[in-house]
Amino acid sequence: MTLLRRSVLQSIGLGAASLAVPSFGRRAQAAAPGPAPVLHRFHIGDATVTALLDGHLALPTAAFTGSDPAAVEAALAGTLYQAKDGGVEIPVNGYLVERGGKYTLIDTGTAQLMGPDLGGLSAALAASGVAAADISTVLLTHMHPDHAGGLLAADGSAAFPNAELVIAETEWGFWQDDAIMASVPADAQGFFQMARNTTAPYADRLKLFSGEVEAAPGFTAVPLPGHTPGHSGFMLDGGDTQLLIWGDIVHSTALQFPHPEWTIPFDVDQALAAQTRKAMFERAAADQLLVTGMHIDFPGLGQVAREGDSFAFHQAPWQFGI
Ligand SMILES: [Zn+2]
Repeated sequence: MTLLRRSVLQSIGLGAASLAVPSFGRRAQAAAPGPAPVLHRFHIGDATVTALLDGHLALPTAAFTGSDPAAVEAALAGTLYQAKDGGVEIPVNGYLVERGGKYTLIDTGTAQLMGPDLGGLSAALAASGVAAADISTVLLTHMHPDHAGGLLAADGSAAFPNAELVIAETEWGFWQDDAIMASVPADAQGFFQMARNTTAPYADRLKLFSGEVEAAPGFTAVPLPGHTPGHSGFMLDGGDTQLLIWGDIVHSTALQFPHPEWTIPFDVDQALAAQTRKAMFERAAADQLLVTGMHIDFPGLGQVAREGDSFAFHQAPWQFGI
């Protein structure tokens, strides 16, 4: 198992300082106006989905395990993607789903855990006209800070005061395991501490699930292990249409559809992550599944297509007038 070595963390801009957990206080002074809220709405059958942009970050192309500069250049050639300062920029997305008057949020963004280019999800949620208190369920694909950070309000209380928090049992168990935490390098232990801190206010309304079960009304869990042990997608049943919200199956739209074998240092088990990604792409292409994900180019809705031995992502056209 490869776990977030110090050198790798620093090379991708996440050194120990930014991993330190008690940085929540910074939010208290966050009076400065942030970037404009970015959201986009679409229907999946009788459900309404609002994609909420938390922000963006850069992943150095050199951080993709299995890649080499020539192959990266070849993957980007002929596309509109560019490596900027040696990195590709990726979004961090969350998804709000309304169905039958109930609101479910899938992943919560970073809040203030990962710097000023991120943390916009709560403003996007507010701009959508939905209050955090209206959300009855929060589903987490996994417990990394760009997905769980927004669980906390500025004062450290639950940002979603009326929501049940739903997580895969395997995922919860991994980050709560003291022996595993003690076995990883000191900087990587920050991830464990963040996972614990961000979920702590929900201890009395936590629901853990296991396997391909209904994780919440209208959402079936799809185990997608590798990126983290309990990493999960959620299949939204919109009646006549389904949408798989697949978490971190893809970190770079530009690089990992053509090269599903390329992994990133944040994958807890890189070999399994690559295997799961390939299997997911095969299934999505064969079934012509509608998919979206937290790091697919915003808003993320589209389909996977086979292209010879590789894959491509076809973004869905926007649904206007919603
Ligand atoms: Zn992520």
